[in-house]
Amino acid sequence: MRTKPTLTWTPEGEPAPRTTDLAEVERVLSEGDVVVLSGAGLSTESGIPDYRGEEGSLRRHTPMTYQEFVTSEEGRRRYWARSHLGWRTIARARPNAGHRAVAALRAHGFVSGVITQNVDGLHQSAGTAPVIDLHGSLDRVVCLGCRRTSAREALDRRLRAANPSFAAATTRINPDGDVDLADEMVREFRLVSCVACGSGVLKPDVVFFGENVPRDRVERCYRTVDEGRALLVLGSSLTVMSGLRFVRHAARSGKPVLIVNKGQTRGDAHAQVRVDLPLGKALTELTGRLGCS
Ligand code: NAD
Ligand code: ZN
Repeated sequence: MRTKPTLTWTPEGEPAPRTTDLAEVERVLSEGDVVVLSGAGLSTESGIPDYRGEEGSLRRHTPMTYQEFVTSEEGRRRYWARSHLGWRTIARARPNAGHRAVAALRAHGFVSGVITQNVDGLHQSAGTAPVIDLHGSLDRVVCLGCRRTSAREALDRRLRAANPSFAAATTRINPDGDVDLADEMVREFRLVSCVACGSGVLKPDVVFFGENVPRDRVERCYRTVDEGRALLVLGSSLTVMSGLRFVRHAARSGKPVLIVNKGQTRGDAHAQVRVDLPLGKALTELTGRLGCS
């Protein structure tokens, strides 16, 4: 469990050859039943920044940790004030060509399962179902008191009502649905608590740094990987163990691992190939070649 985001890692062996040739990915997909593991890089073309890419937000912003969220009211106020503004950008974001291509590959059986580390719901908006949201989803809220979940939209309405004059000039959105915001603005922000139990602390239903992914969800992912023939990583640096473990698992089981990502990843040593191309272009090309665009 990590409370600080990792930015660097030691390579786990000789990295897979880097290429811009999609032939190997096309060949493996054409045999069907490939499991996709996607990351923040798939959503950058929808206007949501990643953490560790060229414009990665970890270079300027440290995300909230679970420990700070549960122990500090000030921390929660800062989180919700910023997230209240950032949420609109996330809620407005639309799936891009990459998400649409994954939906087409799934509909045609080239892909048998989709696990995403993203919390933006864009695979689902593009029509992919089912999707395992490994790190949860920003469109749900969970009460830390009674554990009930509710829609983020309903909370959004309540936060607007509690903070009628809360409007701030802000331009930059961070990937966890957060924006950069001045301290005075944060201090003015009024929090609301759970409607169901009357007092519980509300948290977005996403896995924060320092928090574990629920065990049953991890098991579902392992099963999905086991049922597939190969693992295709799309737009993830695989820095976080939470995603990397499925790459290691697939490689250990002798399944081909393919990666499409701009820039190296922590899983490169386990892959047959890493295709260094922008995902919208690469995936559109693949659906065209496989006749499912
Ligand atoms: P990451 O930021 O660590 O890595 C993203 C990778 O994608 C980088 O290597 C980057 O170079 C590459 N990339 C960016 N745009 C690309 C493009 N158009 N085509 C090809 N490659 C591209 O992301 P991660 O590995 O998913 O880990 C970040 C964690 O933070 C996730 O676990 C997730 O929970 C959270 N997160 C979520 C979102 C989201 O929901 N959209 C966004 C940022 C972070
Ligand atoms: Zn409650």
